[in-house]
This record gives sequence, C-alpha cells and structure tokens, in this order.
Amino acid sequence: MKNLAVIYDELHIKHKPPFSHAERPERISSVIDFLKEKKFFENVDLIKPVEASRENILAVHSSAHLDFVVDSIKGGKTLLDGGDTYVVKDSLVPALLSAGSVIKAVDLVMDNSYNSIFSLMRPPGHHAESSKPMGFCIFNNIAIGAKYALDKYNLDRIAIVDWDVHHGNGTQEIFYNSSRVYFISLHHYPFYPGTGAEGERGNGEGSGYTLNFPLPAGTTGKTYLEIFNNKITKVLNDYDPWLLFISAGFDAHKDDPLANMELTEKDFTEMTKVVKDFADKKNIKIISVLEGGYNLDALSASVYAHLKVLNE
Ligand SMILES: [Zn+2]
Repeated sequence: MKNLAVIYDELHIKHKPPFSHAERPERISSVIDFLKEKKFFENVDLIKPVEASRENILAVHSSAHLDFVVDSIKGGKTLLDGGDTYVVKDSLVPALLSAGSVIKAVDLVMDNSYNSIFSLMRPPGHHAESSKPMGFCIFNNIAIGAKYALDKYNLDRIAIVDWDVHHGNGTQEIFYNSSRVYFISLHHYPFYPGTGAEGERGNGEGSGYTLNFPLPAGTTGKTYLEIFNNKITKVLNDYDPWLLFISAGFDAHKDDPLANMELTEKDFTEMTKVVKDFADKKNIKIISVLEGGYNLDALSASVYAHLKVLNE
C-alpha cells in the first residue's frame, strides 16, 4: 500500500468563467505546476478521475437538480443562480470529473491501494445542496463520494471535517438526517452562506451528528488548533468513523481575497497532522477534497503543506 495519490485531470480548465471570477482554472493549474516544481510526484502517484455516473449524482441530488444543470449548459446559460455559480458549454465534463474524482478516491482507499488521496479538481462542491447548485458549486463532490462509500462498501460511519472558511451548507443539508455521516465544520460566521450556527446539530436520526464551529473574522490558527486538539479529536474518537473525509478549502489563509481569517500554510500543516494522527491511530483512510482557496500563491503553498503531511 502506498501513502498518497493525487487525483487530477487537465480537463478541469474547460470550466472557465465567462466573466471575471475568483473560481478560475489558474487555481488548480498553479497548484499542479507548484507541486511539479517541488518534484512532489517523484514518490506520489498522479491519477486521473472518472466521470461520476447519473446514478452517482442522483444518490445525492434530485433529478430536477441534474436536469437543471444539464439543460442550462445545453441552453447556453451562464449562471445557475443569482450571480455566483457560472457554467459554460464545456462545464459538464469537469463537474462530473470533480464528483467522480471522489468516487475514484473511495475505490482506491477501499481496495487498500493508498492511505490517503487528495482530489485536486474543480469546480468545488460543498455549497451544492441536494436540489440546488450554489456558491461556485455545481454538484456536491464530497457528499457524492461519501454516499457512494456508504452504499457500495456498506460503511457504518463516515466523518467529514470541513475547514473551508465558508460553511459547508450543502454537505450539512444532504446528511442532516443521517447518523452515518458526522459533519464537522469550522467557518467564518456570520458570513456567506449564512448557515452554520452552533445550534444546527442535525435532525431526527441525524440529531447530534452535525457540529458547527462558527468563528469571528480575524480568527488565527491558534484557535483552530485548539478546536482540533481539544474538541474535534474527542468527537472523532467517540464517533469512531470507518473513513475520514476532509473538505479542504484553503480560503481561511490570511492572504485569501474572499475572507478575513488569519491562517498560514503552517496552520494547515498542523491541522492536517491532527487529522492524520487520528487516522493513523485508528488505522483508517483519509480522502481530502479541494474546496475553496483564491490567492494562487497561498493556495499552492497551503496544498503543498497539507500534502506533505498526508505523505508522511
Ligand atoms: Zn470557501
């Protein structure tokens, strides 16, 4: 078994904004160039994703959602919402590959090929709800992968840790009634998308299986690490997941243009260490999925910091 693989496909560039937009192909191209410059792929495999199937998408999203996306693209529409979430004529394949990269990651960790996998794909996913594309996100990639893992491998419990600076409203909504997915999010609050208050703890069978850490602007890595060390590790220990996902956005970095947190790449190293130590101790796998991160230099350095720990 190898330590780490990165899933990537240059087809992601086909999802290109029709107007000036922070979620652009250079986000990923600059990361892959940076990793190659660091000779990171000398001992880490670079793997192509598969396209998520209609069945994979519909396990999480409504058929109205999928039809709306496909029809909008076919019809030449450029926006799926009021202004955030764009599409162009070639967006469908990158969107299906983004979701499919998490499916591929699940198969690769479940057959013991790798300890950890990082999906370096876009568009991101964690804002997409079961019936609504939202916040630059067309399909909820991590939710589609987690649902696939639950169904295909019959896993009892999956944990998702979302440290993107924005609340992962879509992932929360999709698993809000389920005890088989424990969703944990740290995020700027109040802030886009508006959800993620402390009182949102799940519903019905899912009651107690959602945990939000709303944080004020200006929060530093010290606070994040205290939460990881004192609270998240305890929750994870008690829940005892069979597989651990990270919604890895890097927009809480101090240089990010869309948010106002104060993290550095060193903080992403430390947060990754906490999660990796837990996974190693429990002998479970990590699937990390790129979400946000909009300063190209900060994003490259932060992804590199994250991957170095996953490769240890
Ligand atoms: Zn974000």
